[in-house]
Amino acid sequence: MGEFRDLVFPSGFLWGCAVAAHQVEGNNTNNNWWKWEQEGHTLDLSGIACDHYNRYEEDLDIAKKLSLNTFRTSVEWSRIEPKEGVWSDKEIKHYRRVLEAMRERGLTPMITLHHFTDPLWFAEKGGWEKPESIDIFARFVRKVVEELGDLIPFYNTINEPMVYVVLGYAFGVFPPGERDIIKALTVAKHLLLAHAKAYRVIHEACKEKGYPKPKVGVVHNMMVFEPLDPNDEKHVNEANTSDAIYNRWFLESIHAGAVQPPAGQGEEVEELKGAWDFIGLNYYTRNICISSPDPTRRFNVVPMDAELTDMHYEVYPEGLYKLLVSLKKYGKPVYITENGIATSNDRQRCRFILRHIAEAHRAMREGVDLKGYIYWSLIDNFEWNEGFSKRFGIVEVDYKTLKRTPRESAYMYAEIAGKNKVTSGLMQKYLGRK
Ligand code: BGC
Repeated sequence: MGEFRDLVFPSGFLWGCAVAAHQVEGNNTNNNWWKWEQEGHTLDLSGIACDHYNRYEEDLDIAKKLSLNTFRTSVEWSRIEPKEGVWSDKEIKHYRRVLEAMRERGLTPMITLHHFTDPLWFAEKGGWEKPESIDIFARFVRKVVEELGDLIPFYNTINEPMVYVVLGYAFGVFPPGERDIIKALTVAKHLLLAHAKAYRVIHEACKEKGYPKPKVGVVHNMMVFEPLDPNDEKHVNEANTSDAIYNRWFLESIHAGAVQPPAGQGEEVEELKGAWDFIGLNYYTRNICISSPDPTRRFNVVPMDAELTDMHYEVYPEGLYKLLVSLKKYGKPVYITENGIATSNDRQRCRFILRHIAEAHRAMREGVDLKGYIYWSLIDNFEWNEGFSKRFGIVEVDYKTLKRTPRESAYMYAEIAGKNKVTSGLMQKYLGRK
């Protein structure tokens, strides 16, 4: 008897990869990240990145060859609206071609409307700190939907709002580099309300235009938070608070249709009620909680014997299972919209993918309505402050020649996507005892 059994997925399950505009396209010169890079905060400048702006057909060909059936990417706000209220027809046409190219290759588009980057003009006006940001974003969303909505079945409103808040406004390591809790809470609230408004606008605009009804969801980064010492009250409090704010606050607010503390007082907001068709879960790691006066030191603490990624994250597949099960209470379908590993050892990536997919399958067997798994990322790309040093791709990018070369993990993932199952043979090969 072998150690493993085939893990079969339901028909129609989505298998894909994700990228985001700024990380792959190149030359996004008109947003806050480009400026942040010029100011010297990042290891590299994004420059032409992977030149995906010009090479998207090649990348989508690869995704198709790998038997994927979905592709998650974002549209770059600063391209589409280069100045406030001014629309670029050229860029809208570009994204229309990208969407058509996905569909021609049998890749269901999943489109993120905001993936960390803000147009410079928007950031210069105070960005998400200002209540007007909600309507300004909604106007952009309406434009995208009116122009491109006939081709978009899945929308992600705002990618990882809590990452944007924590890294940009609490830790000060992403733009705008603030460390101000009051501002952080204000921005969190505005992102929540912007999500809700975007949800309404997308459905309204599709209805008005007679487009097929899309599915609109949040994309939320979650981590497992556990105390280093379960007997130390401070560690336990830190874990519970992180879970309540980082993992739960955004979801609970939508679930309740009311802005929950600490960014609100439980005030009901009509637009928030039912403002999701699915939950997108981005899962990378567990965080072990300690207490420290410096909030940045409380992140990225790992157990002594942990297997680590090149981001110094712990590999913790069980966490995916735990978090998926914890989402059951919301009664919404779930997509794993990101899960991935930076590593220079592709065998490690193979094992990472298999172990996480196995945990996802375990959650489905326990009733989680999981509809898809999207690996981050198809190609190596610009990893924000880490520049090009971290390689998440199942496809290698040679940054000198921009040549793409699928890694072993790409072929392994292709086998899973093509068969819609993980065979026992595959698991034996990569996870079996040596
Ligand atoms: C983000 C991506 C990022 C990835 C790996 C996610 O938090 O959505 O933009 O590249 O994690 O760090």
